[in-house]
Formats: sequence, structure tokens, C-alpha cells
Amino acid sequence: MQNTIDRLVKKNRKWVKKGHVATYIPELAKQDPGLLGISISELGCDQWNAGDWQVPFTLQSIAKVPAFICALQDNTLEVLTRKISVAPTANGFNSIENLETRNEQKPLNPMINSGAIAAISMVSGASLEEKFQRIFHMIKKMAGNTNLKINQAVYCSEKQTGDRNRSLAYYMKSTGIIDIDVEELLDVYFRLCSIEVNCQDVAKMAGVLAGDGNFSPDGSPLFDTQTAKIAKAVMATCGMYDGSGDFAVEVGLPGKSGVGGGIMAVVPKKMGIGVLGPALDIKGNSLAGWKLLQDLSLELGLSIF
Ligand code: GLU
Repeated sequence: MQNTIDRLVKKNRKWVKKGHVATYIPELAKQDPGLLGISISELGCDQWNAGDWQVPFTLQSIAKVPAFICALQDNTLEVLTRKISVAPTANGFNSIENLETRNEQKPLNPMINSGAIAAISMVSGASLEEKFQRIFHMIKKMAGNTNLKINQAVYCSEKQTGDRNRSLAYYMKSTGIIDIDVEELLDVYFRLCSIEVNCQDVAKMAGVLAGDGNFSPDGSPLFDTQTAKIAKAVMATCGMYDGSGDFAVEVGLPGKSGVGGGIMAVVPKKMGIGVLGPALDIKGNSLAGWKLLQDLSLELGLSIF
């Protein structure tokens, strides 16, 4: 395994030149586009790392998965889907058009910005701070890392420039999808997106999903099999924004990307994978990270399809 991932990182590093770091959050524009790293967390404890796996980056949209898991634990699927569908999108992750013209004004799925903001509003907690702590706790447990912190510079940058997310949230408030204070809700969303991790943290998070929530890195169960099944299904159909269909064909794994360049991929019953490659494709997915996963999936026969 070590030789394979060392080789595949080397082979796919050329792709970093074809992508671009996200610039719409100014702090993310400072990331090094040349980075490429991977960690694999095999069920049963083996851990493999290659390339720039130790470099910290922010979770961004990968945080949508634990937020959705918490919302699923706190609501029945029936209640949750009254406000958020689980349908793939053909538009970008921050599309306003989708909300206004499609799907009775419900967000299409919890893996895009509107759906994640709505999902956070449905997580239990008497205050928004409690909702934040509940999801942050889930992330720390999944990563097996109690030291995770918010990257303050990225958080401030997101908060200052997050007007598209404000538009989505105010629109959803006007249509009754959310019924709490928009600025406070977005503050939770921005903080979750700004949690700093490395590839190993993300691989371990994916590993919990690979084991159906039954084993967290410290050995304790975290969520039930049904929750894991729904989360993986939504990742497989919606996790790579409007690139989800291509990812299913080319990689064949439930995955979730973030504009910080991370991808979390799940090999059910076998392993969790975390990848970093901040140079993104046009849809906001790590370009070299995707290619690396594609090669790995092909060589090891990982596709679930
Ligand atoms: N914080 C980012 C935003 O709200 C997350 C987007 C992403 O990673 O897809 O735009």
C-alpha cells in the first residue's frame, strides 16, 4: 500500500497545474496550489500516508457530512426531508436559482450550501452555540482528534465575504425553510467550514462511515448503521456538487469535497480516505485529488458499483 500511494501521488502531481485555488474566500487564495497528499485509514487500524498529508487545510464542505449526520440523529428522515431533499444538483454548490425555481423552494440536498445551512438549523441545541458544539464534537470524535481548532483567518475571511450564503439563508428564511436568526446560523456554518484538519483526520472521519458508524477511532460507536447508510448514499449522489455523476463513474465511491481542496472518500467496510489538493477544477473539486483517487480506485478495485 505504501509503495502504491507514494507512486500515485508522484504520478498525479502534474495535475495540480491544471487547477486553481479558490479565490472567492480571500484567505483560501493563499493556499499552495502545488500540494497533493493522501491518508488512508484501514478498518482494523492500519494507517497509510503519502505526499503532503500533514499540511493543514480547512474542512469547508466536508463539514456538511457530520452536520447532516447530526441532523439525521436529531430528526427522522421524514421530518428532515420536509425541509431538505436528497436529490442531486446540476448547478453549482451555491446556486440561488435552484432554490427559487426548483423543488418547491427546498434545498436540493444537504451537500450543497443551502441544504447544509438548513441541516444545521435542524440540529438539536437550545442555542446556536449548542448546535455548533454538537457538530464540532461529532467531527472531533470522527477524526479521533480532540485538538482540532478553527482557523481564525479563514473564518473571518468567510464571514466578511459570505454574502452569497447570506442570500441563500435569507431566502430560505423568507420561505420558512429556516426559522432562526440568519447571522447566528451562518456564524455556525462559517465556523464549521473553517475547522482545520489534515488528510489523516479526514481519512479517520471517512473510516467511521466505512464502519457504518459502529467504531470511532477511540472504539466507541458514534451513530447507527441506517444513519451511515443514508449519509453514504447522499455523498455518492450529491457529494461532489454537480460533478457527482462523473465521480461515481470515475472513482465509484461515496465522496465529499470542499473548496479548501480536501476530499473525503469512503470504501464501505474497508477504509476511509482523505485527500488534499487545493488546486480545484471548475466545479470546485480538487483536480489532482480526484485523479489520485481515480487511479487508486482502479488499481485496488475499490468502486462500489
Ligand atoms: N465555506 C464554503 C462556502 O460556503 C464552502 C463551500 C464548499 O466547500 O463547497 O462557500
